[in-house]
Amino acid sequence: MPPVKLSTASELEALVNKFDTFLFDCDGVIWRGRTLISNVPETLDMLRKRGKRLIFVTNNSSTSRRDYVKKFADLGIQASVDEIFSSAYATAVYLHDVIKFDTSKKAYVIGGSGIRQELEDVGITTLGHDDNRSVSLATLAEIEPSDDIGAVVCGIDYDISYRKLATAHVNLTQNPDCLFIATNDDRTLPGGKHMYPGTGSLLNVLAHSTQKSPLVMGKPNAPMLECVIKKYHLDPSRSCMVGDRLDTDILFGIKGGLSTLCVLTGVADEAAILSSNSPQATYYISSLGDLAQLS
Ligand code: PLP
Ligand code: CA
Repeated sequence: MPPVKLSTASELEALVNKFDTFLFDCDGVIWRGRTLISNVPETLDMLRKRGKRLIFVTNNSSTSRRDYVKKFADLGIQASVDEIFSSAYATAVYLHDVIKFDTSKKAYVIGGSGIRQELEDVGITTLGHDDNRSVSLATLAEIEPSDDIGAVVCGIDYDISYRKLATAHVNLTQNPDCLFIATNDDRTLPGGKHMYPGTGSLLNVLAHSTQKSPLVMGKPNAPMLECVIKKYHLDPSRSCMVGDRLDTDILFGIKGGLSTLCVLTGVADEAAILSSNSPQATYYISSLGDLAQLS
């Protein structure tokens, strides 16, 4: 079935009545860059008043769930830590709960405070945050693998450096037990004015140099999906994934057997949504804010 466009109040009402749980992608659905999308707080209030369960699922690993709560509050949206599921948190849940990562080992992180906080919160010591000192051919030999490092975790890192990449590389190539984990593999990220290289693009440097493929947590991949389904006991027939990106959010919903709703406030435009080559959303609307007209 091709995606169905919903626009009248009765179509929107029927959509809301069909589901108990709404999972929201963040950038492109709730906000764009640092700007809130119009009428979204009103939509979320309306859904809460109707007793719907809201879950925010983001591939952005730059921020911890605790800091996301503050970001939501600054934008006028009340959300709890437990309603937020980021790719950094998925990484922590996966390492700690799913594969029972040996916490006597450390994680070498290419990434920012979001990943470090989530890993430290589950008892995993992180290394690498200050490894942006310059290095040259003459000093490269000081970069050595360490048996202490049980995983290289790669997410968005605005201070990425040759030293970090080289340290990750030697651990992945010289230490056969070192895991290679990525928070997400978005090729680009939205930066307000343009698109910029995303985690997937940073990751490709290491995938190419090591000839190894990372296990990728974030949407649309299975680890995040399994962690979300398990944590929230989702009933796919009563859950709807709302997103702006077909290859991450909508595919994630499809893989989980959920209904999907694509919005036009982010990456996908109407032509992409209707293309038979794209993952097929169940529904689409112009903006999540459209639902605010319902009381
Ligand atoms: N990764 C980074 C670093 C980002 O800044 C963003 C969006 O701002 C994303 C991923 C995509 O986030 P989302 O899954 O909420 O669209
Ligand atoms: Ca998005």
